[in-house]
Amino acid sequence: MRFDIITIFPEMFGSIFSAGVIKRALEKELIEVHVHNLRDFSHDKHKQVDDRPFGGGQGMVLKPEAIFAVVEEIRKNEEKPVYLLSPQGRRFDFCLAEKLARHPQIILICGRYEGVDERVVQYLITDEISVGDYVLTGGEPAAIVIVDAVSRFIPSVVGKIESVKQDSFFEGLLDFPQYTRPRDFKGMKVPEVLFSGDHRKIEYWRRKKSLEKTWFLRPEMLKDQELSPADKKILEEIQIEKKGKKDELD
Ligand code: SAM
Repeated sequence: MRFDIITIFPEMFGSIFSAGVIKRALEKELIEVHVHNLRDFSHDKHKQVDDRPFGGGQGMVLKPEAIFAVVEEIRKNEEKPVYLLSPQGRRFDFCLAEKLARHPQIILICGRYEGVDERVVQYLITDEISVGDYVLTGGEPAAIVIVDAVSRFIPSVVGKIESVKQDSFFEGLLDFPQYTRPRDFKGMKVPEVLFSGDHRKIEYWRRKKSLEKTWFLRPEMLKDQELSPADKKILEEIQIEKKGKKDELD
C-alpha cells in the first residue's frame, strides 16, 4: 500500500517511520510513504501557500492552487482517494483503518493554520478524517497515526496475524491484560491461572477479563454487538462480582 502525504512541514516525517514495525514494513516494501512538500507546487515566487481569510478574521488559510496541483500530480489522471485531515471530519477508528487498508494508495492532506480553503473540501477530496475531538496545530500528527494504524492491516506488516486479531477492537472487545516476568514484582503478583497450564481455564480467564475491561472502560462497545450465550453468562457474572466497583467509578 502507498501513502502520499501532502504537508508544508515534510521535515516532521524525518525519523518517525524509521523504527519498529513501520520501518520493517518500508524496508520489505509492504508499504510506501511519499511525503510531498506543498510549497514545491506553489507558483508564487516566495513559495507562499497561505493567505488571509476573505471576510476578515484570525490567522491564515491554505490556498487551493498548490493543493489541487499536487493532488493532480499524484493522481496522474487515475481515481485515488484523497483525505483531508480535519477536526471536522469523520472520526478515525478501527473500522475506518481497516477500510482504508483496502485501497492500494491513499492521499492525505495535512492542513495548517485556520485550515484549508473550503473549495478543497467541496471539489477535491473524498472525505475528511478526524483523529479526535480536539484541535491539533496541523494535520501531520494525524497523518502519522493513520499511516501507522492502517499499515497494521496490510498482510505481513505485523508478523503474526493472530496478534492483530487479539488486539483491542478486532472482536468488538478490549484486549485482555498481559503479564510477563517477573512472576512477583515487589509483592505485585501475576494471576495464578496463567501458570496453571490449563489452556481452557486461561482462555476463559482472558475472555472474562476482556469482557470486564470493555464493560468498565468502554461499555458502549458492548451495546453495539450480539454477544454469544457464553459471553452473556460471563458478563452477568462480572456484573454481579464487580457492580459496586463500577458504581464507584461511574
Ligand atoms: N479552524 C479549524 C477548525 O476549527 O476546524 C482548525 C484548524 S487546525 C488549527 C489546523 C489543521 O490541523 C487542520 O486543518 C487539520 O488539518 C489539522 N487538525 C487539527 N485537528 C485535527 C484533528 N482532530 N484531526 C485531524 N486533523 C486535525
